[in-house]
Amino acid sequence: MTSVSFTSPNGSFDVQTGLFIDGEWTAAASGASFPVLNPATAKEITQVADAGVEDARRALDAAVAAQKEWGATTTRERSDILRAAYELILERADDIAHVIATEMGKPLREAKTEATDAADMLRWFSEQVQHQTGNFAPAPKGGYRIITTYQPVGPSYLVTPWNFPVSMGARKAGAALAAGCTVVLKPSDLTPLTMSLFVQILHEAGVPAGVVNLVPTVDAPAQSADLMKDERLRKVSFTGSTPVGTQLLKQAADNVMASSMELGGNGPFLVLSKANVRWAAKGAAGLKFRNAGQVCISANRIIVHKDVADEFKQIFLEEVARLRVGAGTDPDTTVGPLVSDQQRDRVQGLLADAQENGATVLAGGDCPEGDGYFLNPTVVENAPLDSDIATTEIFGPVASLYIADSDEEAIRIANDTRFGLVAYVYSQDIMQAMRAAEALEVGMVGLNRPAVADPAAPFGGVKASGLGKEGGHNGIEEYQIEKLITMAV
Ligand code: NAD
Repeated sequence: MTSVSFTSPNGSFDVQTGLFIDGEWTAAASGASFPVLNPATAKEITQVADAGVEDARRALDAAVAAQKEWGATTTRERSDILRAAYELILERADDIAHVIATEMGKPLREAKTEATDAADMLRWFSEQVQHQTGNFAPAPKGGYRIITTYQPVGPSYLVTPWNFPVSMGARKAGAALAAGCTVVLKPSDLTPLTMSLFVQILHEAGVPAGVVNLVPTVDAPAQSADLMKDERLRKVSFTGSTPVGTQLLKQAADNVMASSMELGGNGPFLVLSKANVRWAAKGAAGLKFRNAGQVCISANRIIVHKDVADEFKQIFLEEVARLRVGAGTDPDTTVGPLVSDQQRDRVQGLLADAQENGATVLAGGDCPEGDGYFLNPTVVENAPLDSDIATTEIFGPVASLYIADSDEEAIRIANDTRFGLVAYVYSQDIMQAMRAAEALEVGMVGLNRPAVADPAAPFGGVKASGLGKEGGHNGIEEYQIEKLITMAV
């Protein structure tokens, strides 16, 4: 099969450009392929095999065939393989970072953090699976015992987005493999190479043939429509936009398939009247422009109490002025390109609409000269609360600031959305901070810190932002059945 070469500080290395089915790299049955572009140059990096429906079915056949044996391995065996993968990913973190930076545009430093986070995820599940217990209890009315035990749910379809091309794969595959499930992985067609390298590493770490299968495609709707009809598939785990998530949930309903959904957000970032304003402004700028704003837990609406708004704005704008736009592969870059021209057009559309509706641009708003899908870091204020920029996920390097007259108003604005993934609260007053954290209708809150994700923490949203948790103490259970055995005594 064909491959493409990259160079990192470790030297040059190859990434497979085929499908991975039943332990073999292979071309698509149709021979079709699709181009993968570098968003910093708009030039093609390579072609990747385009899995048709027939290939995806073969991948599912392989996953089904491998399920019994993989599900019967001991937790120690699965743990050892995941631990080996953790170590290999750490060794190859620079390689992975180079692939991410090239095909996705993420700045190298952030891309390396993503790679080490992916490794950490595998380490967490490798440890976690050895600590799972069932239950043995006397029935309250006597006469029998209640025993519960965990079993793998079965072959799982893992669909991941482009914005965290390796860590989203690790979060899903780590839990699924630890639980004893075999998987069919479908990466985003914008970032298939990172997932390909991840799968190569899993294979090298000792994951047996058929247990992990990789089927990138440009026609995801056709692939999922076909696979999701198959009763042998027992689980779908999806990270991506809410419309695609709801579509998959409808398909899952027909076979009563277990489903985990990590969907879109509209994260409010609240700077309350008692905030440490410098801390909040630096935190908000770091969070907002991370990955050029293409983060589901980004700060979509920065809501600042009027008493601290001037100070916040001044520090925030100073932080934005320090950002350096460039290719992800340039070590000095802090803000890379958007992933595609469609994404850049969409974000520019939101910006133009906000301006037409009265928002003021305080910084940026334009694109740098040259090729690539760049947009300069942008700050706007006073967009109407019902404008598109306030109600939808921006997913780009545009910060939108709103002023609230009171802390209560800030919370009311924050909750006025159908999404509920994450919120951030800055306040030095412990009661004010906790009251806000408890009142926010979200799955996760960052209190005086601009981050929430950790392998040991349950990641997930409420409302239209999703179902289920990834990571934490229950992450593995998303891929398991809790089976009851009652025993007469
Ligand atoms: P997307 O929904 O367009 O695509 C996500 C994945 O789904 C891709 O692999 C895509 O090819 C695939 N896909 C598209 N249509 C499909 C279909 N009909 N059937 C099966 N698969 C299909 O999202 P995106 O643009 O890649 O990612 C950005 C979105 O993901 C944002 O909304 C963001 O908030 C969300 N996201 C959420 C989280 C989270 O944990 N909640 C994390 C990262 C990204």
